[in-house]
Amino acid sequence: MIDPETNEDFDERPVFNEEIDTEAIETSVRAMLAAFGENPDREGLVNTPKRVARMYPELLSGYRTDVEKLVNGAVFNVTYDDMVIVRDIEYFSLCEHHILPFMGRAHVAYIPNSQVLGLSKIPRIVDMFSRRLQVQERMTRQIADFINDLLHPQGVAVVVEGLHLCAMMRGVRKHDARMTTSTMLGTFRKSINTRQEFLDHLNRGAEPLRI
Ligand code: ZN
Repeated sequence: MIDPETNEDFDERPVFNEEIDTEAIETSVRAMLAAFGENPDREGLVNTPKRVARMYPELLSGYRTDVEKLVNGAVFNVTYDDMVIVRDIEYFSLCEHHILPFMGRAHVAYIPNSQVLGLSKIPRIVDMFSRRLQVQERMTRQIADFINDLLHPQGVAVVVEGLHLCAMMRGVRKHDARMTTSTMLGTFRKSINTRQEFLDHLNRGAEPLRI
């Protein structure tokens, strides 16, 4: 998949996996404040670099999620093959083009082959991929691929809705900068009926996304 803004191939990029250097963030934020023409030593700003530096490890914790721990003991063998749907999973992410938040809801479905994942783990998987510098399309794909590789189900569907502050606050100031992305794998891609069953379920009682 190609990033329309940078023309880079998403999948070819290295995965950042180092510890976050909070000291370097602190220094950089202080330099940014000065570059804005502000006085970094005034009362309201003097602790801002430290606060920002402490915030990023949480906002970007998805890089350091322990996958083994995440799925450990939560994959179960089953004999049924009914569609499993977890909808309205709230997420917060940072767009990698502007380091501004985008946020919304993710909806995940899969049809088991012989294994299912504990339901509480699905929001954790969404967190793992959203708490990174992201683009919504890639995040959607990564959630679907992860579940696909983990459970080898008959199919996986992921729909992500997002509101992007970088589109709402700047440029054309689209206040309704809502974006929907989806990845359909296996039966969800092959069968219109299966896909429609999932989408019908999402449309039932859906509330519009707002901040
Ligand atoms: Zn952006």
